Amino acid sequence: MKAINKILQETFGIESLRENQIKIVQKILEGSDVLALLPTGSGKSLTFQLPMLINNKKTIVISPLIALMEDQVMQLKQKKIKACCIHSQLDDMDKQLLLSHVETYDFIYCSPEWLVTNGLNYLKHYPCEAIVIDEAHCISEWGFEFRPHYLMIDEIVSYFDAQVIALTATANDQVISDIQHVIKRKLTVMDYLTERENIFLSVVNTNDDTDKLSFILEALKASAATVIYFSSKKQVEYVYRYLLEQGIMVERYHADMQYEERMSVQQRFMNDEIQVICATNAFGMGVNKSNIRTVIHYHMPKSIFQFIQEIGRGGRDGELSQSILLYSPNDEILPYRLNELNELSVAEIDLYFQGAVLSEEKQILLKILSEKYNRKEVVEKIKHHQQMKRTALIQMMEYIHEKNCFTQKLNYFSLNMQNVTDIQSMEQEKNSLKCKSCAQCNEQVKISFEQQNYHIQKKFGKTLLNQLFNDLYVFT
Ligand SMILES: [Zn+2]
Repeated sequence: MKAINKILQETFGIESLRENQIKIVQKILEGSDVLALLPTGSGKSLTFQLPMLINNKKTIVISPLIALMEDQVMQLKQKKIKACCIHSQLDDMDKQLLLSHVETYDFIYCSPEWLVTNGLNYLKHYPCEAIVIDEAHCISEWGFEFRPHYLMIDEIVSYFDAQVIALTATANDQVISDIQHVIKRKLTVMDYLTERENIFLSVVNTNDDTDKLSFILEALKASAATVIYFSSKKQVEYVYRYLLEQGIMVERYHADMQYEERMSVQQRFMNDEIQVICATNAFGMGVNKSNIRTVIHYHMPKSIFQFIQEIGRGGRDGELSQSILLYSPNDEILPYRLNELNELSVAEIDLYFQGAVLSEEKQILLKILSEKYNRKEVVEKIKHHQQMKRTALIQMMEYIHEKNCFTQKLNYFSLNMQNVTDIQSMEQEKNSLKCKSCAQCNEQVKISFEQQNYHIQKKFGKTLLNQLFNDLYVFT
């Protein structure tokens, strides 16, 4: 405990850990393989960084988003901890320089794609003793369609024979079993997910887009720092321009923007220079703004997991925040169609096994799956995944059409309550219990927050940020 506190205070500048964090840190110090479930904004990273530094274990951290890696590496460097990140956007010279003395780093952050395709060639002499899988729900949530490379992490783990630490803020029993199955290890599951009572939940039924826009415009008058999530980049741009014309201090964030521009937007939002961000789901992981008061969903998310991740970015300071999901009839058709459009058919799978070349994404997916499974198993896996995606949308619709308490509905889907709670008794309780934090129980659509004064520093934000970034990015 003494060693823990010493490093905690001297390196991280933190006086003490929370009880949950202590339990996880101790388990990791013992050398156990751990799957830790902690709410967003509760110091997840510290729970592995601290024990790895104490035990002096070189660590590879697998992270799904470049922005998230950059952010964490910057924070570690500020604490004089040797960390770097390797990903596709790094130019070749920087990559070579970094790889030439890779063994000096305590933490190497990389994307699953880079790691499983090139990583082992470069890192095979890295004395790695631990592998951290951050946002581990991606193994299950995105596994088969979007990030198939996650399925090959077990090869990295077994190559290094490393201790495994998986972290996530969103997991149910299915996700937990998927994670263990893919990694091929029995992990000690430490579940500290609890209800976030400071998020007020509401669903607003509207007729169409015009209705949504006028609701948003009205809500923004007293919504304080706000993120509006969209499922299409086009819609982000459209609403961003509309709000700008209305005099709102708004910015936008999506994957088509340059990295520097995205960082600049993020930084200005953090500094309270802008009030509203219109964003796709690319925005948010690793954003440490604690005083986001309102998260609006213009489109319904694809799953309860995605929804919880996104609303969890509000109210990290523990103060009240709100989630407003806007729904208009038939909103679910677009995500259903998108699911169908991306679905692999049995005919396509057969074509692949006969040697035909499919579109790039499908080709990569089938290549990885066919290395691990035979044709019959591949068909089963893909069908199962497609079914899970449909179920995810159905659950989202159930939440939207919930007639009783939104909070209970969300907890029912997200807190592994399926097995521990007798569903029938919950159904009965549901009608009698009223919570303090949802629109159904409180006959109130939204909360009004005091507006902040936003200080405008348009020109400097970007330059200052670049400077800071470059200063921290000296490869020594
Ligand atoms: Zn309620």
